[in-house]
Amino acid sequence: MSLHNEFDSIAAMREALRARRVSARELATSALEAVQSRSRLNAFLHIDPDLTLAQADAADRLLAEEATPPLLAGVPIAHKDLFVTQGWRTTAASKMLAQYKSPFDATVVSRLQQAGAVSLGKLNCDEFAMGSGNENSAFGPTLNPWDLDAVPGGSSGGSAAAVAAGLVIGATGTDTGGSVRQPAALCGVSGIKPTYGTVSRYGMIAYGSSLDQAGPIARHAQDLLELLDPMSGFDPRDATSLETCDGVANAPGRIRAQFDATAKAYTDGGSQPLKGLRIGVPQEFFGEGLAADVAQAIEAALASLESLGASRVSISLPLTELSIPTYYVIAPAEASSNLSRYDGVRYGHRAQAYSDLAEMSSRSRTEGFGPEVLRRIMVGTYVLSHGYYDAYYLQAQRVRRMIANDFQRAFADHCDVIVGPVTPSVAKRIGDNREDPVADWLADIYTLGVSLAGLPAMSIPCGLGGTGKPLPIGLQIIGNYFSEGRLLALADRFQQATDWHQRKPEQA
Ligand code: GLN
Repeated sequence: MSLHNEFDSIAAMREALRARRVSARELATSALEAVQSRSRLNAFLHIDPDLTLAQADAADRLLAEEATPPLLAGVPIAHKDLFVTQGWRTTAASKMLAQYKSPFDATVVSRLQQAGAVSLGKLNCDEFAMGSGNENSAFGPTLNPWDLDAVPGGSSGGSAAAVAAGLVIGATGTDTGGSVRQPAALCGVSGIKPTYGTVSRYGMIAYGSSLDQAGPIARHAQDLLELLDPMSGFDPRDATSLETCDGVANAPGRIRAQFDATAKAYTDGGSQPLKGLRIGVPQEFFGEGLAADVAQAIEAALASLESLGASRVSISLPLTELSIPTYYVIAPAEASSNLSRYDGVRYGHRAQAYSDLAEMSSRSRTEGFGPEVLRRIMVGTYVLSHGYYDAYYLQAQRVRRMIANDFQRAFADHCDVIVGPVTPSVAKRIGDNREDPVADWLADIYTLGVSLAGLPAMSIPCGLGGTGKPLPIGLQIIGNYFSEGRLLALADRFQQATDWHQRKPEQA
């Protein structure tokens, strides 16, 4: 086992680093070797050992000199290539930005660096985060470490695959309609998308700005806490960043305090730690289209939660099906506006041959964007155009509000959290949906409503399924606004009682 893999939690790694049993440089070197030896997974798009080792040396100095070094000092992580970074290229997995080097770091990146984390580089994803399988990367798909013929899920597929393969202990991802939760589910690791507005979007390449939210991926809930807490907090450079969350300052420490309080209550609860917790199970999440192996694993997870004292309530989220057309109007509409800046002048690839300005821009865009991105831009432009705006975009905004209201009714009247599947099936084989892009859109059914409502949600491993090699299944836990710490504590309690999050693919 490689050195960086000897620690099964960030806390254990921190302890070894602080006791100087291992150095940040040793961990970074070991992880870089693993990245290189598993290059076939195509999880990483850019590495730069000199930059990584310089960060590791800086962490080692902090560890040697400071009485209380920052909490992540020396912990190797990696970033989805949707966060801009100084040093490493930032491509959003698009040919459009193949050579782009940012003059600044995204807030998520700089906050984790301030917390002492060492970056190993940039992770593969779907182009501009558009996709559910990581097959839309201009630089080739990431492979699922559980079965190299299967997709890792998307769009943060590189992040989930890197964690599942043991290349890094944690990674950043982004979730617009499920992109942290889906790959976490399909790769058998954990991920959380926080409440919209709690983590800064500054320096995160925009897809659907009213939906985009960053979140970490790691093996278990405690590690997610270690990453999410320092990532979060108000940022004046993001106009949608929140100053307070339910009256509490949006700053590092908020989520940890909530986690600690909830975890303590659970500990005090003895053998029935979850007594009093009402789990809402939406009937619409268990209809046609849900594979039997996934349904069974979710059922078993619910039984585990009940045996810990939670009670189960059947609820209804009647507009679940409408979340697909609603999302696939709003997200492309916002994308078509956000992506207008890539014209070969302000940003991005510029075509070689053109006769005038208009042709330069249209050729640059046709050459620079992949087919899924072009499809989204066309859908988005259409639904925003004169005559269709009212029929599609405005209507979608109304349904979005109704979807958010349904969640609020459920939380007000029936339950404390909502639990269900993340994806309708285990990971598909690479290429399965090539001829049918809409099939991928339909597979987002369980994650989109949460994104439209701006709620926090996680995915944690809860089983294995599939017909060939075993493939992971994820459990989705959805909370009300600003309940990230409580969700993480609940996931942690589940993970104390089960060992799905400890299962690893054969080679990892
Ligand atoms: N699959 C969804 C899409 O393609 C969600 C992607 C995401 O969350 N970034 O838009």
